[in-house]
This record gives sequence, structure tokens and C-alpha cells, in this order.
Amino acid sequence: KRILLTGANGFVGSHILDQLLSLGYSVRSIVRSESKAQQVLVDFPNHGTKLDFGIVADITAPGAFDEVVQSTPPFDTVIHTASPFLYRVISDNREFLDPAIKGTLEVLKSIKAHAPTVKRVVITSSCAAIINFAAPANTTPQKVYIEEDWNPTTWDGALTGTPNNAYQASKKFAELSAWDFIEKEKPNFDLATLAPPMVYGPLRHSVRSVKELNQSNSRIYDLFINSKRDADEPPNGLHTYVDVRDVATAHIKAATLPDASGQRFVICAGQVSSQQISDILRKDIPELTDRTPEGTPGKDGLGENAFDCSSEKAKKVLGMTFRSKEETFVELARQLLEIEKQT
Ligand code: NDP
Repeated sequence: KRILLTGANGFVGSHILDQLLSLGYSVRSIVRSESKAQQVLVDFPNHGTKLDFGIVADITAPGAFDEVVQSTPPFDTVIHTASPFLYRVISDNREFLDPAIKGTLEVLKSIKAHAPTVKRVVITSSCAAIINFAAPANTTPQKVYIEEDWNPTTWDGALTGTPNNAYQASKKFAELSAWDFIEKEKPNFDLATLAPPMVYGPLRHSVRSVKELNQSNSRIYDLFINSKRDADEPPNGLHTYVDVRDVATAHIKAATLPDASGQRFVICAGQVSSQQISDILRKDIPELTDRTPEGTPGKDGLGENAFDCSSEKAKKVLGMTFRSKEETFVELARQLLEIEKQT
């Protein structure tokens, strides 16, 4: 099997690359520059002919992927993860929206025109495309989000709202564009999309400093590691989460299982409150005793009937299982402390 993977140098992408290479796949990694390709090579040495690169500097440019989708031997699968999710580098809502939507469409167009052997495309969407963030978090009865739900955000809200609105809308409109492409263009390939909520967990790619962390893990560093015992317990943010290694596994299953054809999957391990993250870190990592907010240990921190995201479909169709909170947060925090020491 020969797979094309975009965003291979990112937090999620590098875990997908890791699992693909371990399973013996031949992978072309798409990154934005030669120096990023070199860094991936440093992170994944010894893969010989199983790892090659394609450079796409601007994923929004017409025909951006025309050349990189062509290969000998040809590709049968494409996994598209590249999309902006780093608030610190964004100065305009369009910087979220354009690469997400145009980038997705350019990938699909190039495959249709130049890679007729591709049979399956997997796209990393997000629970941001599913959850109604304007609704109260706690309701009776409890809201449990599933694959049929879509974030009601509008295009106008995407352009004029907060950067958060723009990110959420970028994921919604990118995914909708992909489903629309399949319906209208009737290409040779089918589509599966994955919708994780907050993705946390250890990094597989090199990060030189905590300042370079990806969006979701930087939240853990800032609020739970680079803080104080008597700091207020941080707000829960998006309290549904999943481990990055499970997200990577879901991509590979969605890329390979026939039953994933034409399907959208919520990939969620469950709920986690800030208090629960604090309790786990303070219990397992003595170094954090005076750095992680103590809050009220043992309190659930989510309130009654906080919304959830259901992965029943992914469990049934993809056979997904999920790591424990301890595995996710303790391994991540230990690694973040190491990165901090290097800085
Ligand atoms: P990272 O920031 O670590 O990785 C993002 C990847 O996308 C990188 O390869 C990055 O390349 C690339 N990328 C970002 N902006 C652009 C752009 N304008 N043009 C071309 N490539 C770009 O984030 P994650 O690994 O967390 O995100 C990967 C995917 O997972 C995204 O689609 C994201 O929306 C989705 N996701 C992530 C969640 C999370 O909590 N982390 C939750 C739900 C979904 P470069 O290094 O060159 O910037």
C-alpha cells in the first residue's frame, strides 16, 4: 500500500506517519518546505525507501497537489490532515478559513485529475464541525453529539466572529466542501472523515521549545504545568478529548476498512474537566505539586449533564478502543517537563 499524507510534520500527522511506517506502508509526506521535510527525516530515521516527500508551499494555490499526487508506484490512499490550528500565527479569520477549505478542495481536485488509482481519502475534520458552541454546556436532557450533528455556525459568523469561531467554521466548511465534492464530482475514490474533540498526548515530532507546542498541548502546558498550586482552577474549555495515538489509529482504520466508505466518525475518548487533569497530574508527578492548580481535589468539575460526544459508531465500525486519561495526561506532562528543561 502506498499512502499520501499531508501535514506529516504536525502533532497528529506525525503520529499517523509513525503508525503507517510501523505497519510497513510506503508513505509520501507532504510538508510546506524542504527544511520541514528534513526535520521529519530526523524524527523518522531508517525508513529507507518507505518514506519520501512532496513539498507544497501553498496548499490554496490552484493545482497545488497536481504533481505530488503522482507517484510510481501509484497511491491508493490519501490522508489529509494539514489545516491551520495555531492561534498564535493567525492574524485574520481568513487565515483559518482559506487553507482549510481551499486546501481540502485542491487535494481532492488533484487526486481526481491526476491520481486515478486512489480509492480512499481520509480527512481530519473535528468535533469543532459538530458541536454547537453557542448552546449551554449543561442541559437536561444531556446533549450527546453524534455524526449527524453539525455546528450551526454561519459563513458570516466565520468572517466576523472570534478566531475561535473562525477555526470552528474552517473545519465545518472544509468538511462540507469535501462531502459536496464527492456528491457533485463523483470521483473514483470514496471519503471518510474523522471528528476528534480536543486531541492531547505525547508528541512524536520534535519540538525545540514549549513555545513551539501545537495548540491543544500548549493549553496543557500553560494552564496545568506553567502555573501555581493556588491558581484558580482553569475553565474547562472543550471538555471532550481523545489521545493523539488513538486519533492516529482511527485514521489508519478509516483508510483501510471497507466499511468506513462514505462515513463520518466522532473519535472521542470521553469527558475531562480541568479539575480531573489537575488531580491526575498532581497525583502522578511530584514535580508538579507546586505548579499545577490544586482546585478542589476529587470534584468532578463538569457539572450536571455536561454535553458529550459519542464514539459508538467508531467503536462498532472501526473497532476503536481508547486510552485512559492517565496515559494521555501523565505521558504528555512528563514530556512537556523534558522539553521545558531543554529550552
Ligand atoms: P499542528 O499545528 O501540529 O499541525 C498542523 C499541520 O497542518 C502541520 O503540518 C502544518 O504545517 C499544517 N498547516 C497548518 N496551517 C497550514 C497552512 N496554512 N497551509 C498548509 N499547511 C498548514 O496541529 P494538529 O496536528 O493538532 O492538527 C492536525 C489536524 O487535526 C488539523 O486538521 C486540525 O484541525 C485537526 N484537529 C486537531 C485537534 C487538536 O486538538 N490538536 C482537534 C481536532 C482536530 P506547518 O508545520 O508547516 O505549519
